[in-house]
Amino acid sequence: MPARRRASNTSCPSRGSNLPSHAETLAELLRGRGHRVTRQRTIVFDALRKGARAGKHLSAETVYERVRQQHPEIDRATIYRTLNFFCELGLVHQADLNGRHVFEPTGTHPHHHLLCARCGHTLVLNADALQDLARTLLRKTGFRLDARHLILPGVCAHCARAAEQTA
Ligand SMILES: [Zn+2]
Ligand SMILES: [Zn+2]
Repeated sequence: MPARRRASNTSCPSRGSNLPSHAETLAELLRGRGHRVTRQRTIVFDALRKGARAGKHLSAETVYERVRQQHPEIDRATIYRTLNFFCELGLVHQADLNGRHVFEPTGTHPHHHLLCARCGHTLVLNADALQDLARTLLRKTGFRLDARHLILPGVCAHCARAAEQTA
């Protein structure tokens, strides 16, 4: 299993940069850090990238399921090891969404997550949504907010309605 990290520790070091758009970019990133470009690494990264394009954060198990469909020779341990390796290199970040470890390539469009404390449902919040707060903080206190990939707790509309009805 990849090392556990707290949600507050899921910052994306390459925020603002573009998602690597082709395999060569991954190859450059790996070679630039002195690592070999293996077929497995390329396949796992592609699976994450496809998930990110669809707005999904994939768990290690989901990555395994998807990769297995086309590459049954790649075993689960290799998937977990590769994800861990990408995290250590900073190519992928990991978040804890309601106890579910999910992965996505860093450099994916900046966003946060709204997490319903009752049903565990998550919504994606565009990072722009916190710009007003960042400006206000800077103006009033001089504090420079550096918020990346936050998990913001609350109650979703569905659960809020259900609570009203039973009150
Ligand atoms: Zn809910
Ligand atoms: Zn995310």
